[in-house]
Amino acid sequence: MPEGDTVWRLARRLDAALAGRVLAGGELRVARYATSRFETVTVIGHDTVGKHLLTRFDDGRTLHTHLRMDGSWSVLADGKRLPRRVHPTVRIVLEAVGGPTVYGVAIPVVELLRTRDEPHVVGHLGPDPLRADWDLDEAARRIERSAGRPLVAVLLDQRVIAGLGNLWANELAFLLGTSPWTPVAHLDARAVASVAARALSASAHGLLQVTTGDPRRGHEHFVAGRAHQPCRRCGTPVRVRAETTGDPQQRRTWWCPTCQPSADRVAH
Ligand SMILES: [Zn+2]
Repeated sequence: MPEGDTVWRLARRLDAALAGRVLAGGELRVARYATSRFETVTVIGHDTVGKHLLTRFDDGRTLHTHLRMDGSWSVLADGKRLPRRVHPTVRIVLEAVGGPTVYGVAIPVVELLRTRDEPHVVGHLGPDPLRADWDLDEAARRIERSAGRPLVAVLLDQRVIAGLGNLWANELAFLLGTSPWTPVAHLDARAVASVAARALSASAHGLLQVTTGDPRRGHEHFVAGRAHQPCRRCGTPVRVRAETTGDPQQRRTWWCPTCQPSADRVAH
């Protein structure tokens, strides 16, 4: 599932294809934007806030998208075509003069708005470690305000820190050496924010979503996706739980009960 680092890298890829380019055309295959036109518009560039992608145009409009679970983008050089089976799920087409053409496929959130209205769609988000305006102190304050909630739920809350998804929430709890169920009041909020920021930045600028430093298939992560396998550090079988408290998406949570003791000494 795409997280902030993945979307940040995507923005760089889309910038390479479209930033500064004049569009020959484009369309949004979403009923309310069906009449939107893009001819002669220039793409200024892409920006990200957490997992939200903002495509800015020089006519004062911004295309706001979110990939959620299944969305993706494809950049095709002039003359290349998308596979036919993908056609029904194309929701965005942006065609640069002379190519390439960029397609947004199966993207669940597609909104066209005035650039000055961007705060309406991203203003609720917490600080994003991949942005120049990343604010460690503010992230720490937001963690502190979540005092009674478990670490994994706080890390997943985009209003606290923007960009972390389930992979990072699990791997960061391991890196912090604490149970994902530890209430954040028992942790050093600044240390949590700082470890999260370092990990996300290292991923965006280096080996994408490899938390162990080992990019070989099946070796990339400490606990995420490794239910019942031996912990890489101590050999204890990794545990899994099918839900995070208060999480409507029912994500799974993995942890090593030995390397990640519960800081409040409550047995789980
Ligand atoms: Zn362990």
